[in-house]
Amino acid sequence: MTTVYNFNAGPSALPKQVLERAQAELTNFNGTGMSVMELSHRSKEYEAVHQGAIDLLKELYNIPDQYKVLFLQGGASLQFSMIPLQFLKEGKIGNYILTGSWSEKALKEAKLLGETAIAATTKEGQYKTIPDASHLQFNENDAYVHLTSNNTIYGTQWSSFPDITHAPLIADMSSDILSRPINIEQFGLIYAGAQKNLGPSGVTVAIVREDLLDTNVDQVPTVLRYKTHADANSLYHTPPTFSIYMLQQVLTWVKEQGGVEAIQALNEEKAKLIYDAIDESNGFYKGHAEKDARSLMNITFNLPTEEDNKKFLAKAKELGFIGLNGHRSVGGCRASTYNAVPIEACLALRDLMDSYRKHN
Ligand SMILES: *Cc1c(COP(=O)(O)O)cnc(C)c1O
Repeated sequence: MTTVYNFNAGPSALPKQVLERAQAELTNFNGTGMSVMELSHRSKEYEAVHQGAIDLLKELYNIPDQYKVLFLQGGASLQFSMIPLQFLKEGKIGNYILTGSWSEKALKEAKLLGETAIAATTKEGQYKTIPDASHLQFNENDAYVHLTSNNTIYGTQWSSFPDITHAPLIADMSSDILSRPINIEQFGLIYAGAQKNLGPSGVTVAIVREDLLDTNVDQVPTVLRYKTHADANSLYHTPPTFSIYMLQQVLTWVKEQGGVEAIQALNEEKAKLIYDAIDESNGFYKGHAEKDARSLMNITFNLPTEEDNKKFLAKAKELGFIGLNGHRSVGGCRASTYNAVPIEACLALRDLMDSYRKHN
């Protein structure tokens, strides 16, 4: 089999050890004689997987007791609607910080359901930066403030989060959850589709502060209330059992790597290899993000011309590098270096970038 270096933006690389373990127990999970996919979601064998994933995430991410970990469906995209449905009461404002396409999409859904505001936007500068925390515009009646912690498409990331006290801070962490330690207590709600850093697609993780669960429940369809899932420990209806099993395997792997701090150190090392290749190229490669806003997860860059981008991407593809094309909305190149992308892949990309530059 040929080696491939998977830099896909999502769904993306999974740890090889996780895939091998899943393969080894695919047809006989834990002595049941069945696949985990075939178990009842009410069985004790499945419940151990389900609770195991919740407990591991709490442990790895230092989640305080007053927060619930929920497993939801509909992707991060359904959260764009679930949040205003739940929290955007009459007379309140959903306040959004715009740092890229995903935050724009979140705002678009809130606009369908209530009053919104823009606390800050970096759109005028092609989303190359993260707003200055001291320049955010708040309103007395903000229902919440929403941000996107990592901008998957533009390749920018909040390096620290604003301290917001007048309303709950809500964060879409789809593309950087569990990539670095965070202070959960700065947030009312964190959500993430699993398919970048946590596992395969199909499950969305939400971490929600308990006191928010009772907000506005009577007007919200049952399955779209956070409380419904919190009260049932995310077993109100059939959960995506295989995705949650894979999530539990990925979390086990994170623990084996030494936890979130160790993962962060490795992520920094991985990203530095590629950013150095950009910075030491005498302008041959140009990063999209301003240096102080650079993402450790999605590294976006361009060659001198669109033609050069195409040629570089074709060469990379030929050599087994997968997923280096920029998002269709922005073009250029993007290397997604999520938790499960091995450092060997980043070393190989660094070498490719260096040698390609020297020959062109
Ligand atoms: C991928 C992504 C999404 C979309 O997630 P789905 O699970 O496909 O709905 C939303 N926000 C961010 C930041 C993402 O990276």
